[in-house]
Amino acid sequence: MTDAPRSAPPEEPRPSGVTHQLPPGVIVNGLRAAYGRIEVLHGVDLEVPPGSVFCLLGPNGAGKSTLLKAMSGRLRPTAGSVLVGGGPIGRTSTEKLARAGMCAIPEGRGVFPNLTVRENLSIWTYRGGTSLKEVEERTYAAFPRLRERRSQLAGTLSGGEQQMLAISRALVTMPRLLLLDELSMGLAPLIVDQLYDLVGTLASDGMTVLLVEQFVTTALDVASHAAIMVHGRIDRVGTPRQMADAAFGAYLS
Ligand code: ATP
Repeated sequence: MTDAPRSAPPEEPRPSGVTHQLPPGVIVNGLRAAYGRIEVLHGVDLEVPPGSVFCLLGPNGAGKSTLLKAMSGRLRPTAGSVLVGGGPIGRTSTEKLARAGMCAIPEGRGVFPNLTVRENLSIWTYRGGTSLKEVEERTYAAFPRLRERRSQLAGTLSGGEQQMLAISRALVTMPRLLLLDELSMGLAPLIVDQLYDLVGTLASDGMTVLLVEQFVTTALDVASHAAIMVHGRIDRVGTPRQMADAAFGAYLS
């Protein structure tokens, strides 16, 4: 487990062809969001330093996924702000955020189920800069199993294979800020380790990662920072080890 925060990455050109790049640190201030009349985020304050792997833990229904939705433009906050690289994202569309270097991989895979593995990869190359051949090579090197399954419909892959494909989007688009929702959900520990190995590799290339997990998992081995969210607020922030211990005390015991 890594307790020491990673240092900020050097500002190097990314191999992604991403335009209008933003520095990837995130500051969330007093963020509130609701579904209809029911408020779920009650004023979230959070700082994700550039170059960090930030693990957000919390029990069922704490609002973790809602926070990622609000940060990635899929849910409009009712109050507060999200600053990415010092600039407010306000009403920025998900498309613009993607062009600015943000990639959000939602809970429940985030793949196109009616397209094959290869077709999914080809869709992610739409912003240009990388050929499908190159993308396939990169993806299959990380996940050899996807090579064998390249002509299979994504919806018929196993849960672990779908999650491998989902996270391959980050390999294809090389975002500067990656938001990951419950990568480990329902998966065998070995596959979770493999997925988080890749997250560690992406982070060591300078990507900032904010990831959400309900339980204490391998995620904390690659994390440099952690926090616990409870009832729509950040309850505490600390090192991954401190937050693992606190999670056991607060809601896992
Ligand atoms: P989990 O770890 O179980 O995924 P979470 O911390 O990610 O939980 P959210 O999914 O953000 O929590 O849900 C927070 C609250 O908002 C829950 O009470 C949930 O029922 C509610 N909620 C989530 N999505 C919607 C929606 N689309 N419409 C109405 N309520 C929703």
